[in-house]
Formats: sequence, structure tokens, C-alpha cells
Amino acid sequence: MTCTCDTCKVYECMKQKPALECVPENCPMLDKAFGEDVAKRYEDPEVKRMYIAAKTAGDGLRKARFVPRLRRLIDLCKNMNYKKIGLSYCVHFRKEAEQYAEILRRHGLEVVTMCCTNGALDQKQFGFGDTECEFREACNPIGLAECMNREKVEFNFLMGVCTGQDSLFYKFTDAMTTVIAINDPVTGHTPTKALYLYNSYYDRFFDPNDDPSTPHLGVSAPKDEEKKEG
Ligand code: SF4
Repeated sequence: MTCTCDTCKVYECMKQKPALECVPENCPMLDKAFGEDVAKRYEDPEVKRMYIAAKTAGDGLRKARFVPRLRRLIDLCKNMNYKKIGLSYCVHFRKEAEQYAEILRRHGLEVVTMCCTNGALDQKQFGFGDTECEFREACNPIGLAECMNREKVEFNFLMGVCTGQDSLFYKFTDAMTTVIAINDPVTGHTPTKALYLYNSYYDRFFDPNDDPSTPHLGVSAPKDEEKKEG
């Protein structure tokens, strides 16, 4: 049965002793064999080490209570005893990449950096781009992944690599990866902001029957009758 936790009203899985008689019939916890199989995976020493390293990252800094993700990731690398890190970034994040690589190096990490435009691929090769333009740079996620594989980095940071191109990176990379920035310029690189404005400005973008490419003022224009009344 398809799992749909998003429709669950009980969240019994947040309790030490979940009341299984209260959970929806498609709750994954009702499949005992599945749960046991997954639980066993955490017994793998490398998986366990990563899990604990991630959970405790930034603990020493918690007097400040909220430790930013970019700082916690440095702790995670230290907890895992990583020495060599890959930082793959979108060309539009080059300033941020330069800054973060410098910070990582100050923390003693060897940092391999690569920009998404590596290889000087042309968008036309994929059938995109301005036909009048002689060359339009294209993202090269496989180049990013293979460079990091060749360099044998122990861990990858992905910064701002575009939607779906990031998925290709995950597909081809050998080492584990974490995302340190998501590319979404219209929301200040915070994709969930579109949900926070879902009931106002961004509603049309998510309406399957609407064409978001048509002009939009953010509010509906008054109808003719309303104008007359006014
Ligand atoms: S795991 Fe089960 S209890 Fe938890 S949210 Fe999903 S359906 Fe609900």
C-alpha cells in the first residue's frame, strides 16, 4: 500500500511506544519485516559513525543555541575525521563558494572546488539556448561528480547546483553528499518560501489548471460589474 505520511493525523511514530492500532492502514510501521530490515542497516559501523557524527555536529557550540548549518557541517567533517572535501558549486554562487572554501581551509580541510560550467559545454548541444547567441554555458553535473570521484574526496558539498542537475550529480558521485545551498533565486534560495506565500502570490504557480506564464498582478482584477458598482 502506498505510504502517505503527509495525510497522517496521529504521528504515533514520534512516540517511544507507538499505538499501532491508531495509525492509518498504510502506515509503514505496520510492516514489521520492513522496519526490522531498515533497523539492521544502522548496525553497519560506517553508517552508525556517520549518523552519530551528524547528530552531534555543533554540540560544542550550542551555548549559542542555533548553530548555522554551514558551521555544523564543519563539525560533521571533524567528527568523521574527513580530510578531503569536494565543493561543487553553481557559477552564480561563485562568491559564496570562494568564501566557504576559504573558511573550510582555515579549519584544516583540503578542499577540491569545481564550478558547474566546467568543460565549457554549450546549451545548444542539449537543444536549448538562444539561437542568436554563439555560445551559452551549460551546467555539467557529471563533470562535477567525476572530478570529485577522481580526486577521491571523502565527502561532497553541493552549492546551488540547479534543479535536476543536482540529481545527476548524486547519480554519478561515489562519496556521500550534502547540500549547502539550493538554487532558487526568486525565493532568496529558500524554496519553502513559495509555500509560505502559497495562499497569496504564488498560488497560481501550483494550480495545475493555470498557466503561470500569463501576466499576474498578485490579486485578481475587479470584474466589470464590480467596476460599475464602484
Ligand atoms: S509513520 Fe505512521 S504514524 Fe508516522 S506519520 Fe507515517 S503514517 Fe503516521
